[in-house]
Amino acid sequence: MTDSVFSKIIRGEIPAHKIYEDDFAIAILDINPLSEGHALVIPKEPAETLHELSDEHAAAVGRILPRICRALKKVTGCEAYNVLQNNGADAGQEVPHVHFHVIPRFPGRGIPVSGKPDKDNGPGLIKEWHPGTLTQEEALEIGRQIKRLL
Ligand code: AMP
Repeated sequence: MTDSVFSKIIRGEIPAHKIYEDDFAIAILDINPLSEGHALVIPKEPAETLHELSDEHAAAVGRILPRICRALKKVTGCEAYNVLQNNGADAGQEVPHVHFHVIPRFPGRGIPVSGKPDKDNGPGLIKEWHPGTLTQEEALEIGRQIKRLL
């Protein structure tokens, strides 16, 4: 398991702007925020990806995520926010320790009303999805396989 920057923050070896801590998780402000209040909720267990996280730490993260969202909403006044969680390099994960981004969103940042990304309007998150279509056959087949494992 990699000793990531987040493990060092959890152990207090490097500084961070900690906004929450309990026995299982911390929340810090992202050092390169996409918007005002951009925070990271991080389980103390050093799992790299979500599927490796224990039920106990997953439950702890699930408990505090809505609380962090409520606090960020109040403090920043945002009406909207994204919760983003990357797993693996192909998904854009840079720090190999599970973390949830909570990213307050503001009108005109990232996805303006026109629907066209506004990259010149300061930091922000741009949602660029290229969706396909789910066929009945695919849904039945993959759904059957997934359900068998759960
Ligand atoms: P991800 O691409 O999902 O792995 O995101 C990693 C995030 O961690 C990025 O948004 C970084 O800005 C953030 N980050 C990296 N190092 C630190 C640090 N020392 N303190 C706070 N945030 C950090």
